[in-house]
Amino acid sequence: MADKAEKNEFNVAGKYYVDSQCIGCALCASTAEDFFAISDTGCAYVKAQPSDDAGVALCNEALESCPVQAIGDDGE
Ligand code: SF4
Repeated sequence: MADKAEKNEFNVAGKYYVDSQCIGCALCASTAEDFFAISDTGCAYVKAQPSDDAGVALCNEALESCPVQAIGDDGE
């Protein structure tokens, strides 16, 4: 389970985030490319928060698919 206290520095503020457990597999950026990207340091981050149901569905799909559960949905 992702930990919002371990959110990485690249995430935009808001509900979804990537924490320090990310292994940089890029699955989230491929599943929900409008919302997740890979930083120069190799970890994923949330580049934009979803603003509609379709975006939320994509972010939830990315969250559920992450192999190391590094994506959370309880951020601020
Ligand atoms: S799916 Fe998970 S481990 Fe893979 S890049 Fe995204 S946050 Fe990191």
